[in-house]
Amino acid sequence: MDRYERVPIEEERRDERVRKFALIDHPYTLEEAVLEGQRCLQCAMPYCIQGCPITQDARGYNILIGERDFDGAARLTLRDNPLATVLCKTCYHFCEDDCIMAGRGVPIAIRHLKRAALEFGKSDLLYVPSKRKEERIAVVGAGPAGLMAAWDLGVRGHPVTVYETEPFLGGQINTIPRYHLDEDDLDTDLARWKNLDITFVAGKKAGVDYTPQSLLAEGYEAVLVAVGASKARTLGIPGEELPGVYHALPFLLAMNKTPEGLYGRKERRVVVIGAGDVALDAARSARRLSDGGDVQLVYRRGPEDMKATQEEKSGGEIEGIQYVFYRSPKAILGSERVEGLRVERTEHGPPDAHGRRTLRVVPDSEETIPCDTVIVAVGEVADVSGFDADLGFKFASMGWPEGSREGWMTDVEGVFATGGRSVVHAMAAGERAAAAIDAYLAKKHGRAPEPRPDPFGGAKPPALPDGYGGATWTP
Ligand SMILES: Cc1cc2nc3c(=O)[nH]c(=O)nc-3n(C[C@H](O)[C@H](O)[C@H](O)COP(=O)(O)OP(=O)(O)OC[C@H]3O[C@@H](n4cnc5c(N)ncnc54)[C@H](O)[C@@H]3O)c2cc1C
Repeated sequence: MDRYERVPIEEERRDERVRKFALIDHPYTLEEAVLEGQRCLQCAMPYCIQGCPITQDARGYNILIGERDFDGAARLTLRDNPLATVLCKTCYHFCEDDCIMAGRGVPIAIRHLKRAALEFGKSDLLYVPSKRKEERIAVVGAGPAGLMAAWDLGVRGHPVTVYETEPFLGGQINTIPRYHLDEDDLDTDLARWKNLDITFVAGKKAGVDYTPQSLLAEGYEAVLVAVGASKARTLGIPGEELPGVYHALPFLLAMNKTPEGLYGRKERRVVVIGAGDVALDAARSARRLSDGGDVQLVYRRGPEDMKATQEEKSGGEIEGIQYVFYRSPKAILGSERVEGLRVERTEHGPPDAHGRRTLRVVPDSEETIPCDTVIVAVGEVADVSGFDADLGFKFASMGWPEGSREGWMTDVEGVFATGGRSVVHAMAAGERAAAAIDAYLAKKHGRAPEPRPDPFGGAKPPALPDGYGGATWTP
C-alpha cells in the first residue's frame, strides 16, 4: 500500500444516512488500524503533538498500534486524556491538520486510531489519586473544561466537588448529534474516574443556589467557574417567539434527550439560520428528524465566510442540505405557527477603514422562503446572571467568561474562570486552570508546586515526548 494514502475509513451509506442517527464513521478493523499506524513517519519534531491542545502523544500511540500493542496505545491515550472515548469520535483533530503527511498526501487518521486503541486495547482502566491533599476545590460547570479540571485536581489528590445546573454532566457534549457520538461514550470515560475523590452535585445553579464567593465561605479553598457559553443568542427579529421556532442548542439537546417532544417525522420544510458547526449540526439533525425532509441553510454571507469545519460542510452537502447564501433574515412570518421566513438579499460593499469586506442590503430585495420550522443558530453567550460584578469577568469572543489574571484567576482571589471553543480546547483550558489552582494552593500552604502525577499511579509523572517543541494553541 502507498504510504501516502490513508487506509480508508468506511462510512455509513450516503443514501441511508438521512433516515437515521447512526454513527457515520465505522471503526477500523484491527488489521486496518495496524496498517494505518505503520504509516506514521515517527517525526523527530512531532507537529501532531504540538498542535494538540492537551499534548496527546499521538506519535507514541501510532507506533504502538503499528506494533500491535493496543493495550499500550490505550494506556498512553488515556494517560493524558480522560475524555478519550468522546474525543476519538468528535475531536476536530488539530493534530491531523499539523501532521507532516498532510503536506505529502493524507494525514495519518490520528483520531480514528485513538478509537482503535480504545476499542482493541484494554481501556477499562481506573485512574488513581496521588497522596491526599486536604484543600477542597469547587468546580462550577460540568462541561469538558470543568470535567478536565476536576480530573486533573483529583489525580493530584484534591477532593473536588463539581456543581452543575443541569441534571446531567458533559455540558455541550450533550448537544453533539448521535451520528458523531454514541449516547454512552461520556459515561464510558467517567467510569474510569470512580476512585478519584470527585463529587458531582447536579441540578444546582450558580448565581441562584450559591455563588463562587459563597463556596469560598463554605470552606472551598479555590473555585473554578467553567460555565461555558450555554445561552442561545437570539436574532431579535419579529416572529422569533412563534411556535415552530427553535434555538439550536435546546433543539439539539432535545434531539438527544427527549426527541419525542420535537416536531413529528413528517415531511418538513425547515430553515436553519447560521453557518457555523452548530448550524450544520442542527440542519443535518433536522433532515434526519424529518425523515429526509427539505432543509435549507440561510446565511447572510457567502460560502467562503462559513465558519463550519470542512467536515461539517461536506457532510451537509452529501446529506442534501440546500445552502441559501446572501440572504439576511428580516422577520419570521405566521399567525398560529411559522409559515415562512422573510429575508433581504445582501451583497458586498466597499472595504471599511480597516480593509475588511462590508456587507450591505440590496434595496427592494425582500422575498419569502416558505417553511414550517425555523432553527436559529447564530451563536451562544454566557449566562452569568447572579454572578457578582466583583469577579471582573472578561468574555472570550465565543462567549464564555474568563478571569483576567495569571492562570485565569478572576479579580476575586481564589476564583478562576475559563472555557474553550472545542471539546479539546476546553479540556486544555481546564487543565491549565487546574495547574494554576494547584500552584496557587501550593504557594498558599508553603509547598513546592509539582507536575500532575501519572494518573495510573506510576512512579514518575508523564514527561513530554522527545522532540516536542511547545504548545501552539490558544483557547
Ligand atoms: C451542537 C454542538 C456541537 C459541537 N460539536 C463539537 C464537536 O464535534 N467537537 C468539538 O470538539 N467540539 C464541539 N462543540 C463545541 C464544544 O462542545 C464546546 O466547545 C465545549 O463543550 C465547551 O466546553 P466548556 O466546558 O467550556 O463549556 P460547556 O460545554 O458549555 O459546559 C459548561 C457547563 O456549565 C454549566 N453551567 C452553565 N451555567 C451554570 C451555572 N450558572 N451554574 C452551574 N452550572 C452552569 C452548563 O450546564 C454546562 O454543563 C460543539 C458544540 C455544540 C453546541
